[in-house]
Amino acid sequence: MEEMLQKKLESKVLDYESYFSEKALQMKASEIRELLKLVETSDVISMAGGLPNPATFPKEEIKQIAQEVIEEHADKALQYGTTKGFTPLRLKIAEWLRDRYGIPISKVDIMVVSGSQQALDLIGRTFINPGDLIVVEAPTYLAALNAFKYYEPNFIQIPLDDEGMRVDLLEEKLRKLKAENKKVKFVYTVPTFQNPAGVTMSEERRKYLVELASEYDFLVIEDDPYGELRYSGKPVPPIKKFDTEGRVFYFGTFSKILAPGFRLGWIAGEPHFIRKIEIAKQAVDLCTNPFGQVIAWKFLEKGLLEKHIPRIIKFYKPKRDAMLDALEDYMPEGVKWTKPEGGMFVWATVPESIDTKKMLEKAVAKGVAYVPGEAFFAYRDVKNTMRLNFTYVDEEKIKIGIQKLAETIKEELGM
Ligand SMILES: *Cc1c(COP(=O)(O)O)cnc(C)c1O
Repeated sequence: MEEMLQKKLESKVLDYESYFSEKALQMKASEIRELLKLVETSDVISMAGGLPNPATFPKEEIKQIAQEVIEEHADKALQYGTTKGFTPLRLKIAEWLRDRYGIPISKVDIMVVSGSQQALDLIGRTFINPGDLIVVEAPTYLAALNAFKYYEPNFIQIPLDDEGMRVDLLEEKLRKLKAENKKVKFVYTVPTFQNPAGVTMSEERRKYLVELASEYDFLVIEDDPYGELRYSGKPVPPIKKFDTEGRVFYFGTFSKILAPGFRLGWIAGEPHFIRKIEIAKQAVDLCTNPFGQVIAWKFLEKGLLEKHIPRIIKFYKPKRDAMLDALEDYMPEGVKWTKPEGGMFVWATVPESIDTKKMLEKAVAKGVAYVPGEAFFAYRDVKNTMRLNFTYVDEEKIKIGIQKLAETIKEELGM
C-alpha cells in the first residue's frame, strides 16, 4: 500500500511553467551571471564581482556590539519593530545627513528599508503605473532596472559623460515630451561614483536636475551607496541638498560602509511620500530586521562609523590606483575608461568592432573576467563596454588581470 503511494508520487511531474504568473514567466536569470558563477570558483582573476571586500567588515566591533545588544536591548532587538524603522537609528541617520551633507532634515522623514534594493522595489510599487515614463542613466544599475521592470514602465535612457548624466540631453527630451503632452514620472540616478560607470555628476548638473524636476514636474531618485567612499578629489553635495520642493528621494545604505549582510538601507524623503511607501513596505515584510537595526544604531551611537569609513578608503584607494595604472600601462589604443574618484568600479569602452559579451569566454580562458556592459543599458543597445571591479582582488592580481584583459582585446582587434 505504502509502496504504491510512493510510486504514484514519484511518477507525478508537474508542469511547473503552467503555475507561474505572467510576470514570473518574464523573469529570466541572466546567462552572464551563470557563466560568472563558474568563474568565482576557479582561479580566474575576477573583476566581475560587485561585492565589498570582507576584509573591510568591522568584525571585532560588531562582535562586541552584538553581545551588548543581547545583554541590554534584547526585548527591542528580538521583537517586531515599526515599519518605518527603529527610531533611535532613524534619528542617527537624520543627524548624519544633516551634519555630513547639509541636508535640511526638518522637512524630511527617514524610513529604514531592507537594503536599498527594497527601496527600489517600493518606489516601483508606489509610483509606477504600466507605461509610465521613467528616466535612467545609460548605463545604469542593473538591479534597479530589474526592480523597476516588474512594474512595466517605459524607460528613457540618458547618456553619461565624465560629469555624470547629460542633463542637457535630458532637458531636450523633456521638452519634446512636453510638446507631445507627455510627462516623466521620475529620474533615477546614481550620481556619485556611479555603478557601473564610476563617474560623478557635477554640482552644477545636480542643481540643474532639481530645476528641471520643478519645471517639468517629476521626482528624482538619488541612489547613493558609494558617496562616502571617496579616494581623491573634492566631495560634491547630494542632489537632495538642493531640493526645496520635496521631489528628491535620497537612498542610503550600510552595505558598502558597514556590511551588506545586515540588509540595511534608508530612504530620506518628503513625509507625505514616505507615509505611502511605509504602507507599501508593510505588505512586503512588516519591518526591517530589528536586530541589525539596533546593532547599526549602536555602531553610529559610539561614533564608530566615522572611524571606520577612513579604514575602508585606505584599503580601497591603492586598488583603484593599481587598476588605473595598469589600464594606462597595458591597454591598446582605442580603449577608453573612466577615472573614478571613489566607489568600486571602472567602466571601459573598447572599439565598436568588439562585442564584450562574446569576448568574455576568451577572456575567461585567458584567466580574467569582467561584466559585459550590455546588461546595464535599459535597451541593451551598447555592446562594446565592460565593468571592472577593483575592490575585491589584491593589487598584484589587478595588474595581472588587466594585462590579461589587454592581451585579449589586442587579439580580438588582430593586433
Ligand atoms: C550596492 C548598491 C546598492 C546597495 O544595495 P543594498 O540593497 O542596500 O545592498 C544600491 N544601489 C547601487 C547602485 C549599488 O551599487
